[in-house]
Amino acid sequence: MCSEAGWSEVKIEAMAQRQTTGDVQAGGGLSGRFPGAGSLCENCGYSLEGLSGDQDCPECGLAVRDSSPALRPGLAWQRGMGLGSWLKTSARMVAGPGAGYRQLRVGGSNFRDRLYLASFVVGLGLAVWLGLRSYGVGLRQARLWFVIVITGVPVATYTEALGVAFFSRRARGWRVPFELAERVACYAAVGWVPAILLMTVAQVLVDRGYVLDWWNPAWGRYTLLTDVILSSVLFGVSILWFEMLVWLGIRKVRFANVP
Ligand SMILES: [Zn+2]
Repeated sequence: MCSEAGWSEVKIEAMAQRQTTGDVQAGGGLSGRFPGAGSLCENCGYSLEGLSGDQDCPECGLAVRDSSPALRPGLAWQRGMGLGSWLKTSARMVAGPGAGYRQLRVGGSNFRDRLYLASFVVGLGLAVWLGLRSYGVGLRQARLWFVIVITGVPVATYTEALGVAFFSRRARGWRVPFELAERVACYAAVGWVPAILLMTVAQVLVDRGYVLDWWNPAWGRYTLLTDVILSSVLFGVSILWFEMLVWLGIRKVRFANVP
């Protein structure tokens, strides 16, 4: 594997080539010149307009070229859809989500991002269904959980994206429209695994009648309220990974430059 510096150099060369091409195509709309009008420092959001690629950001000192959109080639799934790129993208979001979001391509259609979320959610739903069935949970219950997963996760993901876009509009200089918040949230899908796993285990335990056995009568009566409070706390903790991924992603794209 190349070192981080080597990788950057390759990308900067690619960027330089693009700039040259852009100069040749002067007047064309697809020049991709960087920095250009609207280019921001990825670190602090300072406008890089009028600076050259070999200067540093006057505000934070980051090299101007480090904010180039050429450093956002896209996640594997964004570059080409397939089982391999799906697995690579999911593994990246587990092992190095910060580096993954730093590569996230911004701008353009969200079709692939939605498809990633959809495929992940269907996979999760099937895993839950199979898991519940293999532990002897009834067909109706398993089917119910499948439906809860494939509808609940997208609804929660889009609610999060709406919230983040709303928050970003009020944050100074952040450039996170709903489309970008949506893209970030789609790739945070892996963050739902703990919550889904927890729900599945809870359903198996309830089904087998362990829940009341586990409750100590000395703590008081086991009521529906106890159930609701406990589930809310557990669910709140289990979605932290998803929340963390989204916020990490937003921090990495809030000043991103569209190619
Ligand atoms: Zn800066």
